[in-house]
Amino acid sequence: MGNVHITESLVTKDEKYLWNAMKPYNPQAATIIQKAKGAWLTDIEGNRYLDAMSGLWCVNVGYGREEIAKAAYDQLLENNYTPLSVSHPSAILLAEKISELLGGDYVVFFSNSGSEANETAFKIARQYYQQKGQGTRYKIVSRYRAYHGNSMGALAATGQAERKYKYEPLAPGFIHVKAPDQYRYNEDGYKSAADLPSVKAVDEIMTWEHPETIAAMILEPIITGGGVIMPPDNYLKGVKEVCEKHGALLIVDEVICGFGRTGKAFGHQNYGVQPDIITMAKGLTSAYMPLSATAVKREIYEEFTKNGNYDFFRHVNTFGGSPAACAVALKNLEIMDRENLFEQSSIMGEILVTELKDKISHCPYVGDIRGKGLLIGIELVEDRSTKNPLPVEKVNQVIAKCKEQGLIIGKNGVTVAGYNNVLTLSPPLNITLEEKDFILERLVQAIESL
Ligand code: PMP
Repeated sequence: MGNVHITESLVTKDEKYLWNAMKPYNPQAATIIQKAKGAWLTDIEGNRYLDAMSGLWCVNVGYGREEIAKAAYDQLLENNYTPLSVSHPSAILLAEKISELLGGDYVVFFSNSGSEANETAFKIARQYYQQKGQGTRYKIVSRYRAYHGNSMGALAATGQAERKYKYEPLAPGFIHVKAPDQYRYNEDGYKSAADLPSVKAVDEIMTWEHPETIAAMILEPIITGGGVIMPPDNYLKGVKEVCEKHGALLIVDEVICGFGRTGKAFGHQNYGVQPDIITMAKGLTSAYMPLSATAVKREIYEEFTKNGNYDFFRHVNTFGGSPAACAVALKNLEIMDRENLFEQSSIMGEILVTELKDKISHCPYVGDIRGKGLLIGIELVEDRSTKNPLPVEKVNQVIAKCKEQGLIIGKNGVTVAGYNNVLTLSPPLNITLEEKDFILERLVQAIESL
């Protein structure tokens, strides 16, 4: 730091050698980070930023935790690798811990990324019906505006057209349904979950597609990267009932919502459902190591093992559940327990949303302020009555202004028809009240400057 030549040379080499695919979406975030501690990043020129996005929604316990680094170091020295065709203590204990946090009887398969966790879930769902002797159910229902990963199946499940069209044909057998959105199509006032138009839409699509071809539905409890889109409180329950009616599995993608982001261990726990399959990544290790998991209900697992033949699921993952990644996850979850971070997220999220509403609801461009726990979205509109989205150039102005003031915030992934208008806030779960005030002050200034 401070050495102009080193700084210049890194900037040049960054442009020359590093394919950083997200820079075009987020030009104002093109900063080379040297150090990170707590909620704070320091770039190679010594500028400091509060990272109110926890990286890509993942550093839930904050940066620079010495005890997590030590857990990785100790584990790497003790045993750096055992494939999961064998077993090792950290993976066993972590699988038990995940099952405990899920509050049910689950068996866990480890991979390295959210995309892989979802691919694993799709393959399990498809094969499950064959194991049961119920033919080949293969279709996966997912929702427009959701993101489920970058690989051919996870991208096929993704409901954001502009991420997909250059790479088609994607994996076949994925169908989409409209997601609920309490801001744009409020569904309050319906008597039961089954009456909700967004639940009926799932029922209808499963019926029309012929239920015996449907393997599963995948959804996030709250659409995160698509714009923190809130469902009615009973939507998830309604969808679970529809899946049960048609004999399809419910896969819940907890890649972002999991591990305290929404104020509970898992996002679906806010909505009183017990999914058949749950996928998770990011907050599982708070990004100290790559690791993801696919948890399935024991009765699903037992369809694969009932004949004592464990090799029926032909799905290999070399690095999935590596010892150091599992040791890191265990330490990360221990910290979350010890510091009460799920509850902390719930409390701090409520304070932040309330104070944001107090301070910026009056701004003409602020259409909606919403969230659960420290998963927060601010939807910017041209006009509150039409709800037409604010053009992305203006949204980017707010983000750039925040950055000038030392605050990193995010926005929803690019979506068609110009709906790139939701600012996102997802800081580490342990931010202090002073840090919360820092976020609030800088963000309010940036929005007021519009
Ligand atoms: N599901 C969701 C909801 C995500 O947000 C993401 C990544 N942002 C993924 C899956 C894919 O995770 P990964 O990038 O680790 O493959």
